[in-house]
Amino acid sequence: MLNRIRYKLAQFMQGRYGVDNLSRFLFGLLLVYLVVTMFLPFRFSSVISGILLVLLYYRTFSRNIPKRYEENQKFLRLRDRFTSRFRNFRSDWAQRREFHIYNCPNCRQRIRIPKGKGRIMVRCPRCGHEFEKRS
Ligand SMILES: [Zn+2]
Repeated sequence: MLNRIRYKLAQFMQGRYGVDNLSRFLFGLLLVYLVVTMFLPFRFSSVISGILLVLLYYRTFSRNIPKRYEENQKFLRLRDRFTSRFRNFRSDWAQRREFHIYNCPNCRQRIRIPKGKGRIMVRCPRCGHEFEKRS
């Protein structure tokens, strides 16, 4: 019986997109939203959770696989940018006793300079741009 259901489900999902990172993220968002609104004294509109749910179903059962794949790639790029920024912020914090961290004014490359060396010329390792900084 259970196998039959599983088989039917597999058949139904044939050619459909299924669950990806973006779906999991949306699902997490939905859960968080539901939990948070549970503790609010006033009732938020259920429109937001409704939209999230529809989006989840729509993406999971979609037959337009390349489009959904592209959406997921976009989401992953965005997520990576966010997490790497957060990681940079954490390492800056750990290093800020011994180093200054500057961005190259020309190409935005991050450059680490040891503290306590007075005024120095900094040469960007990426684009070769030189600028003066107090260390
Ligand atoms: Zn540069």
